[in-house]
Amino acid sequence: FEAVDHKPLGGPFKIEAAYRGDTSEDKVNLGIGAYRDDAGQPWLLPSVAEAKKRMDLPSCTHEYSPLHGLDAFIEPARRLVFGAELDPEIAPFVASMQTVSGTGANSIIAKFLARWIQPQQIWLPAQTWDNHPHIWRQNAPAIQVRDYPYYDQKTCSLDFAGLMATLERDAKEGDAILLHACAHNPTGIDPTENQWKDIALLCEKKRMFVVFDSAYQGFASGNLDKDAWSIRHFATHPDLEFAVCQSFSKNLGLYGERVGALHIVTSRNATPSVALAIRSQLVEIHRGEVSIAPAFGARVATTVLTSEEIFSQWLEDLVLMSGRIKAMRQALYDELVALGTPGSWKHVVEQTGMFSYTGLSTDQVTVMQEKFHIYMLPTGRISICGLRDANVKYVARAIDNVVR
Ligand code: PMP
Repeated sequence: FEAVDHKPLGGPFKIEAAYRGDTSEDKVNLGIGAYRDDAGQPWLLPSVAEAKKRMDLPSCTHEYSPLHGLDAFIEPARRLVFGAELDPEIAPFVASMQTVSGTGANSIIAKFLARWIQPQQIWLPAQTWDNHPHIWRQNAPAIQVRDYPYYDQKTCSLDFAGLMATLERDAKEGDAILLHACAHNPTGIDPTENQWKDIALLCEKKRMFVVFDSAYQGFASGNLDKDAWSIRHFATHPDLEFAVCQSFSKNLGLYGERVGALHIVTSRNATPSVALAIRSQLVEIHRGEVSIAPAFGARVATTVLTSEEIFSQWLEDLVLMSGRIKAMRQALYDELVALGTPGSWKHVVEQTGMFSYTGLSTDQVTVMQEKFHIYMLPTGRISICGLRDANVKYVARAIDNVVR
């Protein structure tokens, strides 16, 4: 094994390790990708706590689920993506299975496309979750990873013209493209509804296969329907075939339980047997990977999704989490404006979801860490969840200091 290289931790994990090793009392962790309450602690959603009470945990058995996962979970999970109105219409054309959370869904779709569709290229946004390129290279080495412009550094907004022009020019018929359904990680910038419409038309024209990564439904705006708008819009194009990688890590706070699903929407002109055949092949791939997705978290999610009372509590939990994030964005913005910090900071409140691209350079991020013990990604990404009443002034003063 002498030839085995040590692979150092990358991205947020490296930041997390550096943060843990810092003994300063002032230290602030803005690298974390998990919700924290205003005391900086992990938060057990009241809806999830109630679901566990109802489940009578001591008597729960630990049987295997079917290979494709628990139908009792998959059905309401799919309904959540497509909404009560659209779901009955679309369900016969969807191949769904339970996966090892969003990461599992992303890897299975990469493997499935490589085996059955063989697109030449997968288009990822130029800024994206750092695991996306890794997942595609590892699971679909024959598919070339390309990136399309996403973030305009000058305006801290979406480079929509660049995105459209690049895909129009360079995407080949049959390529695959990854889109973040909402709360784009890491920039916090989503297309507008009109921009989504144009992207859908382009994907249809180029006959691209769309992979939606939906890791933040309800967590972004606090509204489950609003956060699924992009996906539901694509579903109104009957010929557009696409996949949805659904994660319940953030919106139910079930991070470590690995709860998710993969839904592949076939042409609404196809026969339902196509969806059944697809599911059988997904199961085949999954079997060689992990056999069956874990059951416990999916049962918790099912209880939340199917009990009217607990579901209402969940809606409140989503509003609380997204509300705290919005309030922290506003607090950071207000502090920066009050300090007269050079530059425009409007993007901090305009972005959505857990993350914000602050616009700080890598050098400025280094100073934030070395001088102020504030940990963020070298790209200038912060996790808004790491901000709280007790540290937001300190963070704003540090940003003010490094940009002057
Ligand atoms: N996609 C995106 C864009 C994410 O940000 C994340 C979580 N960081 C995931 C997928 C997957 O998370 P999980 O595997 O916990 O569902």
